[in-house]
Amino acid sequence: MDRREVDVVVLGAGPAGEVVAGRLGDRGVSVAVVEDRLVGGECSFWACMPSKALLRPPQALDEARRVPGAREAATGSLDVGAALARRDEVIHGLDDASQLP
Ligand SMILES: Cc1cc2nc3c(=O)[nH]c(=O)nc-3n(C[C@H](O)[C@H](O)[C@H](O)COP(=O)(O)OP(=O)(O)OC[C@H]3O[C@@H](n4cnc5c(N)ncnc54)[C@H](O)[C@@H]3O)c2cc1C
Repeated sequence: MDRREVDVVVLGAGPAGEVVAGRLGDRGVSVAVVEDRLVGGECSFWACMPSKALLRPPQALDEARRVPGAREAATGSLDVGAALARRDEVIHGLDDASQLP
């Protein structure tokens, strides 16, 4: 087994852990980050990002319906499947590979 000594172990790679680890690393402190789910934490995969991805389509449709000129083109209904697919795209299908250093 590969054993290394580090100055600090950060538990959790959510926004807080990522910032702490990054700032310590910037100051030359050696850091190990331990994450038992996905690097990026709640915000990237279950909270901020997917909730905003789901809120945006109805918000955009509502905005278009309020603006004369655009309103006439926004005659259809919301495509729930497409909205969910966009949510899945935003959270990378729960794959954190893009968040890894
Ligand atoms: C629906 C929703 C929408 C939100 N929208 C926004 C928004 O728009 N803007 C905003 O600023 N905030 C938003 N938030 C809040 C935001 O998600 C949190 O403030 C943020 O994720 C907290 O970051 P954190 O690093 O403290 O915790 P988390 O993101 O929870 O990260 C903690 C990490 O630690 C890991 N972990 C826990 N225990 C262990 C262990 N023993 N060993 C190893 N790893 C462990 C977890 O797996 C997790 O990845 C939203 C929250 C919710 C629920």
